[in-house]
Amino acid sequence: MIPIKTPAELERMRASNRLAAEVLRAVVGRVRPGVTTAELDALAAEEMAKRKARSAFLGYRGFPGHICVSVNEEVVHGIPGSRRIRLGDLVSLDVGVVFEGFIGDTATTVAVGVIDPRALQLLETAERALAAAIAAARSGARLSDISHAVETVATAAGFGVVRDFVGHGIGRRMHEEPQIPNFGPPGRGPTLARGMTLAIEPMLTMGDWRVRVLDDQWTVVTADGLPAAHVEHTIAVGDEGGEILSRVAA
Ligand code: MG
Repeated sequence: MIPIKTPAELERMRASNRLAAEVLRAVVGRVRPGVTTAELDALAAEEMAKRKARSAFLGYRGFPGHICVSVNEEVVHGIPGSRRIRLGDLVSLDVGVVFEGFIGDTATTVAVGVIDPRALQLLETAERALAAAIAAARSGARLSDISHAVETVATAAGFGVVRDFVGHGIGRRMHEEPQIPNFGPPGRGPTLARGMTLAIEPMLTMGDWRVRVLDDQWTVVTADGLPAAHVEHTIAVGDEGGEILSRVAA
């Protein structure tokens, strides 16, 4: 069963996700050559504390960072540390916060300076795939319509879709029902309804979709070492498509 949030719970999801988006924006603003991923993590911690939010990731199954920072061939779950960002890097930043009992979860991938044109295309395609998936998240549609939307956009551009990691329902817990794969045929799974809140997160690869986990037990990298891009919004299912909750106030 996919949980349905009450209007009051939806308001709280809007608040926690707005905070996550604000933190993400602050960290994005600090990404530049020479900065270490640990420095980005420290900034995120500061921005969360300022907003009386805490990291949803820190301590989650022992994860040691406040955010995930995944560079180039790293897909997701990169542990912040001494790695320095360089010109031409593709940096995925994933922010999860807890605010008044509700989780906010959002991610983006940024290009550092001028990057390889195909890598830029990968990034743009991930964003388009996310937009298509959000448009598919409307009441009356089926869950796998979201999955299919991502795969369609990715495949048309010749990119791979990671299969081992998926999006998820979200609320008081980071991972609620359902799991949301980024691939598959349309028209399958539960019917979507207003009040469902979902974290939709396409993970696309420049080459093969296969991934492996590094010895640190966290960092997911592409098996072929080619770059990946990861973008994520938390949305609420609506009649016209998903309402993006993880967005900074206008
Ligand atoms: Mg997520």
